Parts: sequence; structure tokens; C-alpha cells
Amino acid sequence: MHVPPRLLPFAFVLLVAMPAVAQPAPSDVEAVARMKKDLFFLAGPECEGRGVGTAGLDRAADYVAAAFKAAGLKTSFQPFVMNGFPDLDGPSRLDFAVGDMELAFKNKTDFVPTGYSSGGKLNAPVVFVGHGITAPNLKYDDYAGVDAKGKWVIVIRRTPRPTEKGDKRFDTTVPAGEDTPYAALRMKLDNAVEHKAAGVIFVSDPETAGKDDQLIAFDDHKYTDVPARLPVLHLKRAAASRLLQAALGKTLVQLEAENDAELKPVSVELPKTRGEGDIGVIRKEITVRNVVGVLEGSGPLADETVVVGAHYDHLGYGSGPLSMGGNPAQGKLHYGADDNASGTTGLMELARRFGAIKDRRGRRLVFVAFTGEERGLFGSKYYCEHPVVPLAKTAAMVNLDMIGRLRPGPGDWLGLTTKPRMVVYGTGTGDTFERTVGAAETRYGLKILKIPGGIGRSDHESFYRKRVPVLFLFTGLHDQYHRPTDTPESIDVPAMAKVVSLCDDLVLDLSTALARPRFQEQSGGFEDPLSPNPHAGNVKLGAVRLGVRPDYGYMGGDGMRIEGATAGGLGQRVGLREGDVIVEIAGVPVRSVQGYMAAMATRRPGQEFELVITRGGKRVPLRVLP
Ligand SMILES: [Zn+2]
Repeated sequence: MHVPPRLLPFAFVLLVAMPAVAQPAPSDVEAVARMKKDLFFLAGPECEGRGVGTAGLDRAADYVAAAFKAAGLKTSFQPFVMNGFPDLDGPSRLDFAVGDMELAFKNKTDFVPTGYSSGGKLNAPVVFVGHGITAPNLKYDDYAGVDAKGKWVIVIRRTPRPTEKGDKRFDTTVPAGEDTPYAALRMKLDNAVEHKAAGVIFVSDPETAGKDDQLIAFDDHKYTDVPARLPVLHLKRAAASRLLQAALGKTLVQLEAENDAELKPVSVELPKTRGEGDIGVIRKEITVRNVVGVLEGSGPLADETVVVGAHYDHLGYGSGPLSMGGNPAQGKLHYGADDNASGTTGLMELARRFGAIKDRRGRRLVFVAFTGEERGLFGSKYYCEHPVVPLAKTAAMVNLDMIGRLRPGPGDWLGLTTKPRMVVYGTGTGDTFERTVGAAETRYGLKILKIPGGIGRSDHESFYRKRVPVLFLFTGLHDQYHRPTDTPESIDVPAMAKVVSLCDDLVLDLSTALARPRFQEQSGGFEDPLSPNPHAGNVKLGAVRLGVRPDYGYMGGDGMRIEGATAGGLGQRVGLREGDVIVEIAGVPVRSVQGYMAAMATRRPGQEFELVITRGGKRVPLRVLP
């Protein structure tokens, strides 16, 4: 389960921890033993918390594949590539030659690589580009008149200050640390790439620098999932000033004052200057694998499919901000027993049960153990782009994510009814689901909180986006969520077996019911399209929202591809739809999700603006009135 931390308080309201559920009937004892074995393997030390990039993740994949095979499923892996997080790898070097003069800067004292940086060597000329801003709507361009192609660019953080004449094109009234749109590092980085710079050297503005001009911590941007394209360093003001003075005869403060005075760019190439960097950063590409097991159906429904899925990846040794345990938890094994060794265990058990049915009739069942979920639903998105059977013929998808914490509810006012409680999302996404889930609820003596929406920060979301009806089974958040304390010992396996049996009933129903469930769009759920990664930056959000869902896995180039528009939202009303790539907002080029957020932050209700998208290779301008 992948929940933006700032949504957690809401989720906790729904789910209250209570004592354990009674033991199941003796006939279930064998199933419980099997599941216990699977759970303790997946959430054991051998699988290393199943973090992307660990050998344990591969071990877990092999284990699931073996279970699928043993259950008689046609089993295969679905490999794809994810970016590993960058790591510092040895010291970095940064030297400059200005004419005959040499300036050598010290790693960690004068400069550091940032978490955006690629590794390797770069020897190139140097251009000072002021604040590195290109803002056509403000008629301001730090790159005008200089050629940054193939060169280092020195970029001051934040924006120029308003002039004495009162030119306030750049709003600097927000406190340091809270970025205005053009101040976002990501936006400056995108702009440097746009101008074909070969390396970026950030220098703090006076306000951000304060007294000690602290260098940006590598970890601040380590987990942003931004593709590494070039060296991105942070150099102290004093060092940058020495370089500028040697090459231009002007200090940094002088250049800043000139820039601020008329609010005119003062960009210039440093004459006879070359910068030579050797950056100690490694960033691996990691091949990860979904595990797919197919069980063919038979009879008139055999051509249709029901997908049953659960993600088997977790946080490994913490994965930075994805851990809720903060800094002390980094480097510690995150067992991920509930999240989601529980669901994966349930998935394998269901594969066994359905695999054991002789001459099974009904729809084909495709069991998928997804990977890369915690980083942003990568595995299920990949599956949806490369389904083993067409999604058009996929009647429904059932997702198991965190099913190990079934607990009795707090009881009614007399304290008599303490039925175990769980949550099922997506009950409104298929026209028959309310009834099917209701029947199972009664049969299993549970209290099910039914949430109609199909958005829920887990893999079913990827299918819902493709208009497949989804059900997501979930027993709730808890204090061990995304912490090293989510251990297999804390799972009530007999109670979990009950959820698996309930899921068994649902899958049986979905695979054999003659009528295929009709997809229904829902607006509810964990709906917060703009914040799947609250750590990506600190751009202030404006009051205007388009209600579109960014595609975080988009690698197609500039712009922000959208995965879809929320029903009834502003974006949908102006005609935005899946696949559109937003490339410009009110004259501001948009090159990434971050850039999109920054540009939207300048929009205000009641002010019409132009939005430019590319659709089918064509630029399409749209008028938007928030
Ligand atoms: Zn999770």
C-alpha cells in the first residue's frame, strides 16, 4: 500500500485497532499452515524487505513463481526497468581553469553533488545564467543571448528581487524555503536541460544561504525519481564568487545587484574558463519483474479474464521518505509482513485453490504478483500497458493489499456487536459489486466498510484508470505501517485466512457470473491527484486544480502526460483526457510534473488562461476558466 503520508490522519479515523479474532474451523488448519509458511518466508530476512534493488526482491519473485507453477498455472515473468535511487560513490572533484589560473574546490566543503546528479566526468566551458529562469509570460529570460549548449551553467537559487522602481514580476514575499513557481530547483533543472546545458551548478541566493550557506544534502533529492541527465552540483557562494571574480572581475554580490537593479538578465559566458568535474554518483537501472500465472477458463465465458493481484515488493531497508520511521529507520529491514507479504500470501493460496479445481468452468484467471508498487504502482501500470490478455476482455480486477490485520470492531453502544471489520474499495466501480460484496459480508460475519471509488493508492488503481471494474480488499492501516515493526509475528494468520476465503468467494463469483460487471466511474476514494509524492519538492499549490492525474512513469520527453481527468473536474470540462501531454500553462513551458505544479500555482480562480497540450503529436491550445 502506497499512501501519501499527509493522507494518513484520514485513514486512521476509519480503522481502529482491536483484539484478535477467534480461531477458524479445524478444516482451515492446513490452509493456515501453508499461508504461515509463505508469509514468514516473504517477510523473513532472506527477502530483505523486498526492496527494489535487493536480491531479496528476486528471491521473493522466484518463490511466488514456484508456487504458481506448483499450483498448475502457466507461469511467466514480466520484466521491466526501474531507475534505482542514486548513491554517492566516492569523492567528487570540481576544478576550474581561468586562463592560467587554477581554482580547485573541495568536495563537501565548497561543493557537493545533489541527489539530482548523474555521475561521471565533465570538462566544459562555463556560463553564468543568473537565476536560470525562462519566463515568457514575465518577459524575462536568463538564457537570452548566451549559448549554454554543452556547457556548465551557474544558476542562483530562487528569483531576482523586486527593483527599487517597484518591478514585482517575481514575487519574493514568500519566505525562503517556500518556493515561488520559477524558484523550484526542478524547474531550473528542466530549463537548463531545455537549453542543452551539460552540467548545472546551483548557488544559493543570499536569503537561502543565510549565515553558514549550508550545502544541499544529497538525500534531499535522492528519492525524487527524476531521471539523472547531467551533473547537478551545489557550490557555496564564496567559492562561486571567487570563480566569477577571477573570470569576470565581478563578485557574485555585484552580479546579483546588477540583475536586481533593472530586473534584466546579466548572463554571460566566463571567458577563457573551463570547469572540470568528476562526480562520484552512481545510479543503477534495475530490472524488476512482475510474476504472472494464468489459469485458463472453459465454457462460454472462457474468453474473458479476471485478474487477481497483489504487490510483493516493499521498502527493503527503508527507501528514504517511503518509510514512516524517519531517519532512525533508514538502513533497518522493513519486513512488510502486512504490506504486502499478506496479500501476496493470499494470492498464492488463491492460485492453489483455483488451480486444484478439476475442469473449472468460467472466465480465465490471471494471477499477478506486482512489483514496484511502493515507488508508485510501477508494476501494475506496466501490466496494464502490456497485459497478457487484452484489458478490453478483462471483466474485473481484485487486489489484495494489506489483509493481515482483520480485527473486531469497537462494538455498538451496548458492546454486543464486535464483528471483524475490513474495507473494500471499488464497490461502485462494477454494477454488480455492491450485491456481491454484501452477500460475502453476511456469509463471513464481517462488517465491511464499502467505498465505491476505485482510487486507492494501490495496484487496482492502475486497472480502474483503464476502466476495468476493481475491488480492493484491505484490513486497514496501523502503527506498524511502513515501519520496521511490520513483522510476520504481528499477523493474525487465521484471521487473514478468513479474508482469503472471502476473496475466494468473490473471485469465484466474478469468474462464473454470466453477466459481466459493467464499469462505473466513481469520484470518491483517496483522491489527491497532485500528491502521490509529497517529497518531490516544496512548490506551493495554488487554489486552482485541473483535476488531472499525472503519469509519473512518463518517459516520453517534455511535458506532463496525464493518465486521466477526474469526472466533473476542470480538466475534464475543457476536454483533457488520458494521453494528453500538458506542455504549457499561461505561457510557462511545462516540462515535468514538478513544472506543472509550479505553473498551476500561479493560477487564480476567475482568471482565464491558455493551456497547451500535445495530442497525437499536434499542439492544441485550450482556454481554461477556473
Ligand atoms: Zn506500502
